[in-house]
Amino acid sequence: MYNEAEGATMTNGKTATLAGLRYFIRTFGCQMNENDSEHMAGVLVQAGARPADSPESCDILIVNTCAVRKKSEEKLYSYLGRLATLKKKRPGLVIGIAGCVAEIHQAELFGRKPGPDFLIGPDRYQDLARVVAQASRARSLETGRDGLWHEFGPEAVIRESPVSGYVTIMEGCDNFCAYCVVPFARGREKYRPLPNIVREVEDLARRGYLEVQLLGQNVNSYRDPETGRPFAALLKAVAAVEGPSWLRFITSHPKNFTNETIEAMGGSPKVCRELHLPLQSGSTAVLERMNRGYSRDLYLDLVRRLRRALPGLSLSTDIIVGFPGETEEDHRATLDVLREVRFANIFSFRYSPRPLTAAARLADDVPADVKARRLVEVQALQKSIQLELHRSFIGRILTVLVLGPSKKGGRLLAGRSEGHQVVNFVPAVEDVGRFAQVCVTSAGPYSLRGEEALTA
Ligand code: SAM
Ligand code: SF4
Repeated sequence: MYNEAEGATMTNGKTATLAGLRYFIRTFGCQMNENDSEHMAGVLVQAGARPADSPESCDILIVNTCAVRKKSEEKLYSYLGRLATLKKKRPGLVIGIAGCVAEIHQAELFGRKPGPDFLIGPDRYQDLARVVAQASRARSLETGRDGLWHEFGPEAVIRESPVSGYVTIMEGCDNFCAYCVVPFARGREKYRPLPNIVREVEDLARRGYLEVQLLGQNVNSYRDPETGRPFAALLKAVAAVEGPSWLRFITSHPKNFTNETIEAMGGSPKVCRELHLPLQSGSTAVLERMNRGYSRDLYLDLVRRLRRALPGLSLSTDIIVGFPGETEEDHRATLDVLREVRFANIFSFRYSPRPLTAAARLADDVPADVKARRLVEVQALQKSIQLELHRSFIGRILTVLVLGPSKKGGRLLAGRSEGHQVVNFVPAVEDVGRFAQVCVTSAGPYSLRGEEALTA
């Protein structure tokens, strides 16, 4: 498929090694992975490739993987099975696996038949065009880390959303929570220079973006590598950029949340009154074994301080059930915290042992049926809390960032409120990529429904 004669010099001075080829990227995982895929797309476009609409119509197919939970890996392997059929029909198709699974399961992936043509780890995306070009001749492997920050710059990002833009501020994680594979897959923390972050936000502002989401595994441990200025200073610098009206950041670690950050949030109306603050467990004993670095009381104290400084703050969290040694009492402690904090949303998971982690050496001793039952209890309780919270919005007018057509169909549009609730509504005008004032008319546990209020 790759023809060196097709190489040409692009307007940006780079050699268009992939000119004429079409790429398709399938992303598994969280916003960080989505943003990585946007960077990979940027690198491919700079090398002359163009996006394809489907795996069937592309020349280069990249699967961006997530290794955080066993379930995400299982989904990946079933997807790879389907790709094997495609490869049989079109042997010229170059298939690559990117991301965390590529980094930690190299031998297993290359051992598959037919295996991928290349593997590329999360720290190597700047070399993607070269790796793809090589892979059409021989299997190619690009993993490992050099500990340096690799700047992509706004010009090398092909964004999925024209309304809300992700901006990566740091990579990796130093926390080594006992259950988590991220520090092994993505390496130690490294921070993006503050001026580069501001430059990217300014670029989004010029292009009319209404929302900016700062991304990192552990955003509030951010330090500008040049000056040492902390996350609070970054937040202020980004909030000072004229243009985008809403600013969010994810993920924050409770143990790194400083008063300075709370003040910086309170000091700018642009910082959405919404925060994802992973709890993981409501039991101090389990938190200790997880190596989370905070107790239940410290977490609850932080929630109180945040709510005092930021009235109306909407909180979401992550919960793991069935961590090794979790007793019924520990589980009830988690349910108690859910009742006390009344999160607006939670992401809840059954513990699964991950390779290389400290917890993988512990006995996975909570039986599968107990984990399943605890997960159901957590989700049922949360569902009832969310329904109550959502019903309290009925009759109120919310500002909604309009993102696109609603999954509910009809002429409904969908967007997010400042508190990050999904709002499906009957629009007054069809346009997306704007803010709308929506009167909430009904509510379910997972979304709100309303009608756009006519403004004078
Ligand atoms: N850095 C963030 C943090 O500190 O919470 C998020 C990391 S991880 C990508 C997202 C979530 O996956 C975690 O918060 C945790 O709840 C869940 N998770 C990670 N490892 C897991 C495991 N081995 N089993 C079940 N859930 C896991
Ligand atoms: Fe994983 Fe813990 Fe780091 Fe989050 S803070 S990425 S859970 S090690």
